[in-house]
Amino acid sequence: MTSLYIHIPFCNRICTYCDFNKFLIKNQPVDQYIDCLIKELKEISKDIDTLFIGGGTPTALNEEQLERLLGFISRHFKIKREFSMEANPDELTREKILIMKRYHVNRLSLGVQTFDNELLKLLGRTHVESDIKKAVDTAKSAGIESVSIDLMYHLPTQTLQQVKDDLEHALALDIDHISSYSLILEPKTQFYNQYRKGMLQLPDETLAAEMYDYTIERLAQSDFKQYEISNFAKEGHESEHNKVYWQNKEYYGAGAGSHGYVNGSRYYNVAPVPHYIKAMQKGDAVKETHQVTQEESMEEFMFLGLRMNEGVSRADFFKRYGIQIDDIFGDALAQLERSGHLKLQDDKIMMTPEGRMVGNDVFEQFLLSI
Ligand code: SF4
Repeated sequence: MTSLYIHIPFCNRICTYCDFNKFLIKNQPVDQYIDCLIKELKEISKDIDTLFIGGGTPTALNEEQLERLLGFISRHFKIKREFSMEANPDELTREKILIMKRYHVNRLSLGVQTFDNELLKLLGRTHVESDIKKAVDTAKSAGIESVSIDLMYHLPTQTLQQVKDDLEHALALDIDHISSYSLILEPKTQFYNQYRKGMLQLPDETLAAEMYDYTIERLAQSDFKQYEISNFAKEGHESEHNKVYWQNKEYYGAGAGSHGYVNGSRYYNVAPVPHYIKAMQKGDAVKETHQVTQEESMEEFMFLGLRMNEGVSRADFFKRYGIQIDDIFGDALAQLERSGHLKLQDDKIMMTPEGRMVGNDVFEQFLLSI
């Protein structure tokens, strides 16, 4: 399996909660950025199973830029399985979706976050509720096979009723996949600064847990099956690309601030756009590489794999590391089974619903260096 992530670090507006590597697109050297990206992509293996273009916002590119990038990708790569792109609902014009379709994008991930116009304003999003259905209809009528939406909960002032309403709105759409993420206050975001000054009220942890529980319960009554802590899909629509990360497999990354995992090494590209352009003009944009040790790889295998409902397999662990999982993590496994956070079943080790509620505490038990 070969996978590739491409980063487009431009947005039309900066959201109040966002800590991704992104910049306001106005006055950015976007065309030069695409030239450098193409140069970087030319060095990557041509046979790709899954490709994901994220950001930033790929749909912040204009039609000509989109056409140039996707045209190159379709000529250079042979994409065998999944070709996903992120999009903002208000930026997804019919022209842009037709360009995506022409170049074989088969999965769209829409940054919806919520259907509530007041909350959307608070998040600093550029779209309103009515843009969402229009975007989904545009994508489906253009023949995009799989449409996913991102939702958020634990937002300032958000009530459980608003989460319920968001889910009903989502279920009424012709979509195939839902990601539901809890807001995390990240340093250097507007929300974080407002929170520190006491200007932002977040739902308490009990309410946040109720929101998560409700999401799982409601989606379980529909055609969406939970397959990862934050991800739900109709049959045949799980994100193959994201599963590569959770299965701790290797992938390429291209673009400013992107990272990859190739031949046992993780690499990180420089993040600011002018630095990326300069570095690519000189040769390559890699700022740092790190050879992953066997210990680190085993830790990651556990806490990434346990994110998925199917859990991790003892046989896969042995195949990969030549050692039995119990010889490394036996104590942690036994303790987490006793506390009801893990279920051990033949070859499989899975998190229980209780475990998922306190995922980070469970993952900590697999840190070998502690
Ligand atoms: S959340 Fe998405 S659209 Fe908003 S600033 Fe971040 S990358 Fe841009």
